Amino acid sequence: AARPFAPPLGAAFAERLPERALPWNAMRPERPAILALNESLARELGLDPERLRDEPGARWLIGNDPAEGSRPVAQVYAGHQFGAYSPRLGDGRALLLGEIADTRGRVRDLHLKGSGRTPFARGADGFAAVGPMLREYLMGEAMHALGIPTTRALAVVATGRRVVRDEALDVLPGAVLARVASSHLRVGTFQYARSLGDPELLRRLADFAIERHFPELAAGETPYLGLLEAVIDVQARLVASWMLVGFVHGVMNTDNMTISGETIDYGPCAFMDAYDPATVFSSIDHRGRYAYGAQPAVAGWNLTRFAETLLPLLSDDPAEAERQAVGALQGFGGAYDAAWTAGMRAKLGLGDARGADPTADEETVAALAAELLHELHEGRIDYTRAFRALAETARGVAATGYAELLGERSPGPWLERWLALGPDPTAMDATNPVYIARNHLVDEALVAATEGDLAPFEAILDAVARPFEPRQGLERYAQPGPPGRPHVTYCG
Ligand code: AMP
Ligand code: MG
Ligand code: MG
Repeated sequence: AARPFAPPLGAAFAERLPERALPWNAMRPERPAILALNESLARELGLDPERLRDEPGARWLIGNDPAEGSRPVAQVYAGHQFGAYSPRLGDGRALLLGEIADTRGRVRDLHLKGSGRTPFARGADGFAAVGPMLREYLMGEAMHALGIPTTRALAVVATGRRVVRDEALDVLPGAVLARVASSHLRVGTFQYARSLGDPELLRRLADFAIERHFPELAAGETPYLGLLEAVIDVQARLVASWMLVGFVHGVMNTDNMTISGETIDYGPCAFMDAYDPATVFSSIDHRGRYAYGAQPAVAGWNLTRFAETLLPLLSDDPAEAERQAVGALQGFGGAYDAAWTAGMRAKLGLGDARGADPTADEETVAALAAELLHELHEGRIDYTRAFRALAETARGVAATGYAELLGERSPGPWLERWLALGPDPTAMDATNPVYIARNHLVDEALVAATEGDLAPFEAILDAVARPFEPRQGLERYAQPGPPGRPHVTYCG
């Protein structure tokens, strides 16, 4: 029977795209134990957090006792991984439990990661370790609190089992992540559909995506061109928002890029400390393909792969289809620049991100930002702290201001030009975080959690969940790590 804390889940994806959905069951650990539960997200989904905390709740969260009507499936997709095409990836250790309507009526996916091997696991074990799953939880909440579209963790549940990972000297405790997304449709989902050479299936997938994410397009004259333009637009804005907060995704493979415009698949991601476009954290990104400064260009490359998948739907005439796709892709650069400049305007206190109350034109904002970023790069200055320090300078508080942060160096002439525009420090503080998920503190929290102590994880989660509000006792969460070896992140 359906449990009172859990409504029946929808199975629209499994029913409408059965070719892309392999029915599969989650593993059943002996002793599931909740490590982290996202109470506010649970309430948003109409679930009672208290009832999720006991064993029936934990088992529902990890797909062991799904509510009536649920049909867990592994989704199939393809993808370019570091530029090389893999024709069949799919959920190797993940399952879509089904769809759930939130209290505002929005349809969300409920999905598991680390729930055991599926036929798409290839050589891998199907499991996940506590550390990487808590990392996904933390990073997703940090991004959400920064106002950036993202999938979110609902819970991390320890399995009581051990998993083996190369980068660890020992076996690690296992966990399952329950996550919520507006969908799990990826660029790779379309690449797989296109590769099957069945236009009807491709159209069914595109119609599903339009209905789910861009319903206003369905009634239009050119819904598939509209879908391409809409995905280009949401991804341009998403990647601009990453750049504005100094986020490095780390694995921008086409299977890790959503159609919805949400950030997905937090693996070797991290926030940059000192500003440097060449920043790379991932242990597997040897050539810097997914470096901080490369992200806009990579997004454009991935969107070109997406456009290719839609060609058969754009026109029966291949030349005309290509002309439309190229036209749409040409919009990416402008959409990205507009989003980035609007965000920079807000970060510099020169009007809000929607362009209200501007005190400087576009060119002025772009020129000031370029000079500031050059200065931060030259001086290896902390990117996040720079903007809070600038607000202090704008308020006339020299002791905690920008010149103080630069130390020996002195600010360039751009600073006086900026101050003359009358930047609004209160508005700056509402858009520039004090707290980001700093690498050394994330590591410290995950090491402790792996050893059974969740207190540091809860402390950093609390800091990044309210990133704009400086709080007593949280000073160390606002500081970069000690200088030393470059930070390295793993895929988990
Ligand atoms: P990711 O890099 O996490 O986006 O994963 C890429 C692909 O590898 C996806 O198809 C995953 O399902 C699969 N995968 C990653 N880790 C594992 C694992 N431990 N077991 C099975 N499949 C995995
Ligand atoms: Mg992935
Ligand atoms: Mg450099």
